[in-house]
Amino acid sequence: MSSPIIEASGVTKNYPGGVKALDNVSMSIAPGEWVALMGASGSGKTTLLNLLDGLDRADSGVVKIQGVELGRLSPDESAVFRRERIGLVFQQFHLVPYLTALENVMLAQYFHSMVDKPEALRILESVGMGPRAAHLPHALSGGEQQRVCIARALVNDPVVILADEPTGNLDEENEQCVFQIFLELHAKGKTLVVATHDRELGALSGRVITLHHGKLEAGGGPASRAG
Ligand code: ADP
Ligand code: MG
Repeated sequence: MSSPIIEASGVTKNYPGGVKALDNVSMSIAPGEWVALMGASGSGKTTLLNLLDGLDRADSGVVKIQGVELGRLSPDESAVFRRERIGLVFQQFHLVPYLTALENVMLAQYFHSMVDKPEALRILESVGMGPRAAHLPHALSGGEQQRVCIARALVNDPVVILADEPTGNLDEENEQCVFQIFLELHAKGKTLVVATHDRELGALSGRVITLHHGKLEAGGGPASRAG
């Protein structure tokens, strides 16, 4: 087996008030895998994704992406790491409301390195949003906004795509559209970790990791047996 692209070992995260959001979670994800992170609301999915993207830190345990231990990075290094290697897709899209679809994607390029308008447009076209590139977010449907959000996540060619309930706010038709985009990304060899309640989305993925009250119930892979 090739070395994992994502590794968590013995990861624990507590919130004030005695909430044990993650309890000794270990898992290992290989390059090119598409993993669904499932479990009831409050089971720790978002908390785990926030540790994988370096936005938050574990109380104990180790999180590594491509061998880099995220807990050892300074806040600045963590921000650089995230923009270089991670693409984030959110349930609530988080598009900048006064920028067009195209400008939202170009903003991600700007923070990464430099703006490349034709490339930004090409990425929007790849998710079927070329014709709507000049629209502001409020003039787009939820499904269209999510496709812009995905384009923004992809534009800097991340090694890992992390998505938190990406179809949670979408109707059936747009949900199918997002499934199709994920299938294409997986076929291209991207590594995807998708937190979802959606059984259909879970079934499309190559492996389901299930959390239950912050504990890994199933699917952690080789590292969970070692840990
Ligand atoms: P999920 O994404 O699976 O719904 P979360 O990771 O958001 O679960 O939450 C896991 C647990 O941690 C829940 O009990 C939630 O209430 C709690 N939690 C999440 N974020 C915070 C926070 N910032 N402060 C306190 N408790 C939190
Ligand atoms: Mg969540």
